[in-house]
Parts: sequence; structure tokens; C-alpha cells
Amino acid sequence: MTKAYDHFIGGETVTGASGNYRDIFNPSLGDVSGTVVLANSEEVDLAVKSAQEAFHGWSALNPQRRARVMFNFKRLIEEHADELALIISEEHGKVLADSHGDIQRGLDVIEFACGIPHLTKGEYSQGAGPGIDVYSMRQPIGVAVGITPFNFPAMIPMWMFGVAIATGCTFILKPSEKDPGVPLRLAELMMEAGAPAGVLNVVNGDKAAVDALIRHDDVKAVSFVGSSDIAHYVYQECAKTGKRVQAMGGAKNHGIILPDADIAQAVKDISGAAYGSAGERCMALSAVVAVGEKTGDQFVEAMTDEINRLKVGISTDEEADYGPLVTKEHRKKVEDYIQMGIDEGAELVVDGRGFSLQGYESGFFLGPSLFDKVKPEMKSYEDEIFGPVLQVLRTETFESALDLPSQHQYGNGVAIFTRNGGAAREFAQQVEVGMVGINVPIPVPVSYHSFGGWKRSAFGDTNQHGMEGVRFYTRTKTVTQRWPEQMTEGSSFIMPTMD
Ligand code: NAD
Repeated sequence: MTKAYDHFIGGETVTGASGNYRDIFNPSLGDVSGTVVLANSEEVDLAVKSAQEAFHGWSALNPQRRARVMFNFKRLIEEHADELALIISEEHGKVLADSHGDIQRGLDVIEFACGIPHLTKGEYSQGAGPGIDVYSMRQPIGVAVGITPFNFPAMIPMWMFGVAIATGCTFILKPSEKDPGVPLRLAELMMEAGAPAGVLNVVNGDKAAVDALIRHDDVKAVSFVGSSDIAHYVYQECAKTGKRVQAMGGAKNHGIILPDADIAQAVKDISGAAYGSAGERCMALSAVVAVGEKTGDQFVEAMTDEINRLKVGISTDEEADYGPLVTKEHRKKVEDYIQMGIDEGAELVVDGRGFSLQGYESGFFLGPSLFDKVKPEMKSYEDEIFGPVLQVLRTETFESALDLPSQHQYGNGVAIFTRNGGAAREFAQQVEVGMVGINVPIPVPVSYHSFGGWKRSAFGDTNQHGMEGVRFYTRTKTVTQRWPEQMTEGSSFIMPTMD
């Protein structure tokens, strides 16, 4: 039976009336497993109206009560984790254990958001002047929108609405058209957790829905995660009307291997970071910089052996290391990049093209590929490939290894593998990248720190979750107060000071 996904607005399913639909696939089978309706501007208006109406009551609730809803939501997600993971695996193609990781990383943000009374506490300065006290409070910004990519259908929505809703904002989620099943379920569970209708709405759609949302006067903040050109577009559109905006984009995450590194350990770490989730992670480690010819030779040899041990399988195969790509079109794009790398003169050590899984010949599978002798000027290196392809570059010095990620257009994550604390410290200090791992291949920060890259990996000033997330969804108001018994007589025409 195929699924038909609609919208979730005002606490209930709303049947889309646009007449525009998009197919959802099961990437392991290559079959259409359902459809999702794409919203028109009236449906976007309805969602904004619903969120706007819910805002007054929700934002006025004391923060402990909002925290209680988050606690309930956390429990419900835990109870439904298997169901949610299966939906992710069936729509996205990542293996079940990885889908559980997707959910858990989102849940970590919900746990963080449970502490919202403490996180939004204000500041108070008694006696800032004669009889004068000053206090600051953080107030929720209003209706917030989240536009999310296909690759983390649980984690990224929760990064956004988890914090937004806890602060008192109401939220409209526009998930990826490729895997809307879990975002819709999350909204239902949020209602079950006790959030009033309209606090979390889901509008499905494509560019038309995004444009209607980011141009809507009643939307006050927009959080976007996806590819860089669209992130930049969303950032510019929001800035035009003074909306608060954070727009995270694509990536090319480097792994620097210094000659003193434990190569065997680095290979284990990097194989998971490069090929896990078929490389469809914004923090996938997709380029290795080997310092020294010997390091490069050892790494490529050991990684080739490691790749030969990898198992590609359907997303419900518990033995599989990774599953299919999300769509046939995306697989073709990755294959084209492999061809581009060959044409540009890189050495294709392992070719994952032509991989076929017996019994699942129509699935969107692609075997792991490994390139050696990649050069910085190659387009296949400049671009994000977003597939199971690892590119190895070789350099002779620490300085040139530091330059490669620093000068790349993207600056999401980077990892250095070494036993030298001084070199690692210097690298972390100097590198022009937002998230750094030291012998940690995927340095996604924990929920109470914040997530965000530099350069074309993120537009806007505030990161996702942690205190940066709390600041994104709230505005500071500062009150300077004096009471009648402290009043001085007469007017003053000079700039007031506290002296
Ligand atoms: P995408 O940019 O195609 O889509 C992201 C969202 O934008 C979706 O909701 C989609 O419906 C919407 N969209 C698509 N085309 C649009 C248009 N022309 N105008 C307005 N909105 C549009 O990204 P994707 O393929 O779903 O996800 C993969 C990308 O996301 C990769 O580039 C990956 O690196 C990036 N990503 C970044 C982060 C991060 O935090 N930096 C995290 C995850 C994924």
C-alpha cells in the first residue's frame, strides 16, 4: 500500500488542494512508495495563521510548563524510536542503526530544550544608577520557520523546532519532499506530548512553499539547512525584509593525516565518516589530506583493504554498513562526479560504479569509490559530491595541509589525525572551518554546544542549537527602571548617565 502525505496544520491533517504531488521512493527497492502533496500559498497562509494564533497562549505559558511538554515529547520519541527509524530507513535509505543515530541526535537537542527555564533566565543589575535597576529578558521572536534537507529527517527538524518551541515560539516545518514521513509523525507526537494545536505545523512542498514562507510578513525567523546556493538565496530573501535568518549549506570536510598518526585507527574512523549513510551527510569526511608520500601510500593501501570489507545492503539489513542513495537522480549525479574526477586526471583506486545488489537490482545503490592524487584545482574537489566517494590529496607540509581546508569554499567540518598535541592545537586555532575534530572524524558538536560551519557552509550569524539556538529564537529586551520614591526633581537635557 502506498502512503499519501498531506500537511499537518492546527493540530490536524489538512488535505492539500494544490493538485501538485511528488513521488516518495523506497531507495532500497527503487519503487515508488507514496506521494506527498506540495503546498500552495493558501495552505502556507493557513499554517502561518495557525502558528500566529497559537503564539500568544504558548509564549505566555511559564517556561516550566513548556519544558514539561518537551519532557513528554522526549519520552514519546523514545517509545516510538523503532517506528520512526523504520520510516527513515524506508524513505531515505540509511541503515536502521544510522536512522536511530539520526533520531538520537535530535533527541539530544530536545533534552537540552527541557532546560529552557534556566536557558532563558534574564540578567539583573541592581543599583545600576541612583535608585535605578536594569534587567534583561529573552522573549520568543514569534512564528518561526524551518526548511530542512532530506539527509536527516529527524535530527535537523528537532535541532530547530526543539529549541524554538521551548523558548515560546510557534513553528512551521517545511521538510524535504523526499522523506516527509518522520517530520509529520514528529508533529503528531508533539501534540500528544501536550503542545497546543498550531504550536508545530508541517507544510509539505517545494520552492513555491519555501518562497511563500520566507516572504510572509508574519514569519519572524527562518532556519534553513540544505545546499549552499539555496541557503544563500534564502538568506538574501529573508534579509531583504529584515527577518532573522540562519541558513546552513553544503560542505567538503577534510581529514588531515599527519605522518605521526595511527594510520590503522584513522582508516577505521575515516571509512565510517566517508561512507556511512552513503556519504550523504553534511559532516561526511570526503577529502583526506595525507602529509608525506609515505603517509599517503599507507593510507590508500589500508583504505582499499577496508573498502573491500564494507558491506552495502538494503536499509533494513542489520549487517550492512550503508544503504542506497536517496534517489536515482542523485546516484547519477554522484556517478557523473566520479567520471569528472577521472577526466580531470585523478587516480580512481576503487570504482563503486556498476554495483548491483542481488535481488535488489532496481535499488539506488552505489559501491564505495576512492580517488588518489586529487589536485586542489579539480572541480570534483571544489564541489560537494554528497555520495560514497573519498578523495585523497597529498601534500608535503603541515602548512599546506592547513591551507587546503582553509582555502576551500566550504568550511563546515575538518578533522586532524595526529599524536602531536602541539600540532593539533595549532591546527584547531588556525584553520578556517567552523567545527574541528582532533582524532574525531565527525566533529558534530553535542547539543549544548552549537552546530555551524563557516564560509559557504553557513549564511547568517547564529548557529543551530546550544545557546546560539536559544538566542536565534529569542529577542533581548532590556528594562531600566526607577520607582517614584527615587525620582529626582526637574528635567534634564543632557544624555543620562548613571553617576
Ligand atoms: P536542497 O538544498 O536540495 O533542499 C533543502 C530544502 O530546500 C528542502 O526542503 C527543499 O524542498 C528546499 N528547496 C529545494 N530547492 C529549492 C529552491 N530552488 N528554492 C527554495 N527552496 C528549495 O538540499 P538536500 O538535497 O535536501 O540536502 C542535501 C544538502 O544539504 C547538502 O548540500 C548538504 O551538505 C546540506 N546539508 C547541510 C547541513 C549543514 O548543517 N550545513 C546539514 C545537512 C545537510
